[in-house]
Amino acid sequence: MLLEGKNVIITGASRGIGRAAALECARQGANVVIGYSGSASSTPLVEALIQDIRSLGRDATAVGAPAGDPDTGGKLVEAAVSQFGSVDVFVNNAGICPFHSFLDMPRETYLETVNTNLNGAYFAVQAAANQMKRQGRGGAIIAVSSISALVGGGMQTHYTPTKAGLLSLMQSCAIALGPYNIRCNAVLPGTIETDINKDDLSDTKKRDAMISRTPLGRLGKPDDLAGPIVFLASEMAGFVTGASLLVDGGCYVNLQ
Ligand code: NAP
Repeated sequence: MLLEGKNVIITGASRGIGRAAALECARQGANVVIGYSGSASSTPLVEALIQDIRSLGRDATAVGAPAGDPDTGGKLVEAAVSQFGSVDVFVNNAGICPFHSFLDMPRETYLETVNTNLNGAYFAVQAAANQMKRQGRGGAIIAVSSISALVGGGMQTHYTPTKAGLLSLMQSCAIALGPYNIRCNAVLPGTIETDINKDDLSDTKKRDAMISRTPLGRLGKPDDLAGPIVFLASEMAGFVTGASLLVDGGCYVNLQ
């Protein structure tokens, strides 16, 4: 029970990594505010997740609002405070990665990616941090960045800067929020099989190539991120701030 009695907000928790993290936080004793886009197709997924969390003996509520809207962070914080009384942990996880070549990148695709992945995150982290400061007992903020913060991707020229930006945001916020005992860290997933890369990984040659360059010999699962996120959220990581944790099966170091 690493998060007993804590109240956690996770953006992009309807599916994939965010969903796995939400369930593990609940198993570890936390109530969860589930952020998602609000799309009709995701609402049943969110309803099922709320039931799953309740069956673990914890409570959950959902806020459907676009991650790129600067007001969404405030709405998530409001929901946590009104339903559960406080915000102890904020996990910024919502993100998109619409693979596209650089030379003909549509402006809308670039702007939507940066707004969803980074600009909204900035204001959401700010809203969560202000609430934690008001509460006066510290907190933990975790950004789901990516291995793409450290390496390039020809079809991800709009995406990799957002992930590098999130990593940098956590490093700067670790300094800005340290005096309030608010810890800020990033996790950097490698290739994790979720809806975000379903089309890309349907190319079996590409999929096999990705597996072959991963020392642990497989792609990641959403659950692989749940433990690292809970660890950084918990008091076990009480002196860890401004840090980043690669969760990639060893892919990044496998260059020689
Ligand atoms: P996913 O299964 O596609 O889940 C994405 C989540 O983000 C969903 O909950 C989705 O909500 C939410 N989201 C998307 N657009 C949104 C918007 N405009 N407003 C609010 N919520 C929105 O993808 P995932 O792989 O779990 O990705 C989670 C995070 O991990 C992302 O930030 C991604 O960049 C990062 N990451 C993933 C990988 C990987 O290989 N999978 C690797 C490195 C980093 P809806 O259901 O409402 O659309």
